[in-house]
Amino acid sequence: MGASMATIALSQAYPLGTIINERGHLEIGGCDLVEVAERHGTPAYVYAEDDMRARARAYVEAFAARTGDFEVIYASKALPITAAYSVMAEEGLSVDVASGGELYLALRGGVPPERIFMHGNNKARRELELAFEAQIGCLVLDSFGEIELAEELLAGSGRRQRVLIRVTPGIKPSTHSYIQTGQLDSKFGFGLEDGLAAEAVRRLRDSAVLDLVGVHAHIGSQIFELEPYVKTIQLIASFVGATGLDCRLLNVGGGLGIAYTGEDEPASIEEYVDVKVRAIREVFDPVPRILVEPGRSLVGNAGVTVYRIGTIKEIPGVRTYVAVDGGMSDNLRPMLYGARYDAAIANRPDAPVTRMTTIAGMHCESGDILIRDVELADPQVGDLLVTPATGAYGYAMANNYNGVPRPPVVFCREGKTRVVVRRETYEDLAAHDA
Ligand code: PLP
Repeated sequence: MGASMATIALSQAYPLGTIINERGHLEIGGCDLVEVAERHGTPAYVYAEDDMRARARAYVEAFAARTGDFEVIYASKALPITAAYSVMAEEGLSVDVASGGELYLALRGGVPPERIFMHGNNKARRELELAFEAQIGCLVLDSFGEIELAEELLAGSGRRQRVLIRVTPGIKPSTHSYIQTGQLDSKFGFGLEDGLAAEAVRRLRDSAVLDLVGVHAHIGSQIFELEPYVKTIQLIASFVGATGLDCRLLNVGGGLGIAYTGEDEPASIEEYVDVKVRAIREVFDPVPRILVEPGRSLVGNAGVTVYRIGTIKEIPGVRTYVAVDGGMSDNLRPMLYGARYDAAIANRPDAPVTRMTTIAGMHCESGDILIRDVELADPQVGDLLVTPATGAYGYAMANNYNGVPRPPVVFCREGKTRVVVRRETYEDLAAHDA
């Protein structure tokens, strides 16, 4: 990052290569955010495409330096748009989809079907049919009901589908409870402790159509400590030893945390890969193909949201509300799990901060608060407010609350913008009327 990155506002939450340009504006992927806002309107999701590519490469390089047998899988729920699928496929990543819709978009984005992994705790018959028609590479089984349904659909097809079983190892990493997924009391997968995973292995042993090739575990998201992964891997190794499962593929999920604010200090991609590879080598012989499934750490810091400041309401001695033209329709995370963000004024990011503010959305809910207590540089009506690290699970969870059209997604690269998802229109809001 450039020398002007010394200001407090420009933490590692911003995309790689973000600078304050000679006009004193924030510049992402070589594009001046003031110009981006003028051309594409606000709010807008703005991504530095090269940031995503760099993080995808960081995963691949970290693995390649340690093992010859690995697969990096983009957990596409973080940003399920055609252009992101294409970028990840171009970088040589595989893709995980968690619904028929994500499968559709992945295929549309050019992801080779054999590189697609399909998840879901309640896959519908139609979704499984689509997956089998597309001949996806691997189905991640989540329940006994799904095993039966998959066998029924594949019977007589002459095909054997490669499958993993998703296990819940009984590990609770420290992250918000809504994004812990590895504990025994979970809607996902087969428990190791309660014997259901072992039963699933027995159940699949004689399957004529399902070829069990390994195990999957994803213990949660936005995780900062790496120790829970080591524990998870040890538990899976004991399970594999006890069941005699021929574990050729070991998918140890995603979950690496990212910096949402200047105070966050997540592990690096390299540290994360190193810990996982080492832990697997220590307890597996033979060592299976190692799969990881990151989402947030590939796209989260690549994206920012740019808003226009509208009303400013000062309640003397209480609080200053700075309202922007978006809110819980474009970023649900603060309301869903108290997620914390930074903010800056994109048209003068290096001005000294002067005011403690609360960033409010424009929706009809008092809980529509994007950031409580953030210092800004004298915010004015008409300024552009930017929140960094909104690249993952922002657009993905966007909605039309209050009839607000969803913002566009704009990729920036080498000074050029590319609208990869256009802004919704009012007509779009009525497009499904029947
Ligand atoms: N794999 C599975 C099964 C998930 O459910 C998720 C996220 O919820 C991920 C991977 C990606 O996690 P993250 O975005 O934290 O890397």
